[in-house]
Amino acid sequence: MNVTDTNSGGTNAATASRVLCISLTSAGHRHAALLPYRGSHGDLVETIRSEWSEVDAFVLFCATGIAVRSIASLLATKSIDPAVVCVDESGRWVVPLIGGHHGANTLAREVAALLGATAVITTATDSSGVVSLDTLPGFAVRGDVAGVTRAMLDGESVSIHNPLNWPVPPELLTAAGSSPLTKAPEVAPTATSNLAEAAEGTPVRIVVSDSYRAEDVQAERTVTLVPRSLVVGIGSSSGAPVDEINDLLVRALRDASLDIGAITALATVDLKAHEPGIVELAIRLGVAMVTFPASVLNDVDVPNPSAAVSAAVGTGSVAEAAALHAAGPKSTLVVTKQRSTMSTVAIARRAKPAGELRVVGLGPGSALHRTPAASAAVRSADVVIGYSPYVDQCADLLDARHDVRRRPIGAEELRCREALECAADGACVTLVCSGDAGVYAMASLVFELAPEYGWPPIEVVPGVTAALAAAAVLGAPLGHDHASISLSDLMTPWTVIEDRVHAAAIGDFVVTFYNPRSLKRTHQLETALAILRQHRPPTTPIAAVTDVGRSTQRVVRSTLAEFDPTIVDMLTCVVVGSSNSVWSSERFVTPRGYRSPC
Ligand code: SAH
Repeated sequence: MNVTDTNSGGTNAATASRVLCISLTSAGHRHAALLPYRGSHGDLVETIRSEWSEVDAFVLFCATGIAVRSIASLLATKSIDPAVVCVDESGRWVVPLIGGHHGANTLAREVAALLGATAVITTATDSSGVVSLDTLPGFAVRGDVAGVTRAMLDGESVSIHNPLNWPVPPELLTAAGSSPLTKAPEVAPTATSNLAEAAEGTPVRIVVSDSYRAEDVQAERTVTLVPRSLVVGIGSSSGAPVDEINDLLVRALRDASLDIGAITALATVDLKAHEPGIVELAIRLGVAMVTFPASVLNDVDVPNPSAAVSAAVGTGSVAEAAALHAAGPKSTLVVTKQRSTMSTVAIARRAKPAGELRVVGLGPGSALHRTPAASAAVRSADVVIGYSPYVDQCADLLDARHDVRRRPIGAEELRCREALECAADGACVTLVCSGDAGVYAMASLVFELAPEYGWPPIEVVPGVTAALAAAAVLGAPLGHDHASISLSDLMTPWTVIEDRVHAAAIGDFVVTFYNPRSLKRTHQLETALAILRQHRPPTTPIAAVTDVGRSTQRVVRSTLAEFDPTIVDMLTCVVVGSSNSVWSSERFVTPRGYRSPC
């Protein structure tokens, strides 16, 4: 299967989201420089005006009053206005001013983590713990969001109508006053003790459906949550215009009363992976495009196979087969093949949400060393799983929406299995690791176990591994060839580790030791250093960096001859230079060789 991700949501898009910082004072300028966004200093009002429709969000380093006056004349509606976040002069308070549920609250939390500040969230649902209907992951929302939210905040009874039995977040059911009955097709209005308050007459309803019903969308105190349940299969002749395919799709949706917001992907045959009309339509809709070999599609049971298509493409069906295959096991065809002159369209409905597992490296400690992609992956997850301290490391990204699962040390396999199981079950899961997720961490174990869970989609989001963060603190010790070696012999026999240390010593690699020492494992580092001493001068630089990137960071600089291994603990990286490494004014440097000899 090939996947071309044109999705405007998800990790990659979030990474690329357009945030502009505008500062007025030199203190504001200093704070802004700590953030990983574009910056502008000086003319606040004019910059806001010229960038208003160009950015997703502003971070304004000024008083909220100045910000309010500067944006007032530009405000239209919350669906199109950019989010606006204010940071005070001291950099202590971060206030989402507008667009709380359109990115401002999450951006404020992220900015607060990066500046060591506090986010001041004022949107009612966030501060009261009531579920926010317009930010539920995996759903588009239509209808009277404000009316239903107000009713929920006031504690009125809410009924949930869920004819597809689509899984909904447990907190939604709690809000509706019911037990977690995700499996029940319909949750009737609950105990009527507070019906009196609802007595204005109009019942408060949440409909979970991929059908488009104008009467629901226009009704007061009714919200439709549109799940991402539909996959569109497309066949086309070469050069089929995007507008023709689009018109055919819109007609098909309208005739079947389906909501365009429910589309999660376009699917076709590999041969059409670069068909401009289909590619362009996926971009317009902001959804992924997936393609499959003709031989795979040929095996899918469809109602309307065609001998002519089979002769031309090698499969009796493209649109119907691709839709059904991409929509996964137990999916159903809700629109059979529809034709226009140059294209065909069919629509399948998934039996359950498409889950996903992201294995995310959070970096060594501080939010400053966490990548925007890692932050986005945590923020957009339904379920966040990790060893407790790692979950704490990203607490600024979590809110009431997340199902957070803190797990104990030593339960690595259980943690990975739990994450895979949730993803296979349809949840968007983030498994958090420190540093990089692939370096002595969970990513490899996840892939080892994935076949047992039917290979749900898995993405690895890289992080700054401890060796790189330690190297940056020290200077440039990794300027030439280097090796990382874990000294933990819990899962690797010590003789194998010793052989690797010997090999690195002979190869004159700079060596970073991970897992160098624990209360029980005390001889390993000493033995490894003894091996290196046989091959390197006593003056070779060595450094121990503990808790790198955290407020408790400690650095010990020494030489191979003088280093005391007992100062090292489990949260330390030990970096040993090659025979070319030097200490230069307390900086650990391994020359690359760029400098021409004098
Ligand atoms: N995935 C992590 C490594 C996990 S193995 C990464 O990429 O960084 C655990 C070892 O990593 C620790 O024993 C220690 O050697 C190193 N380590 C992890 N975080 C560290 C930190 N903040 N400071 C120093 N070393 C760290």
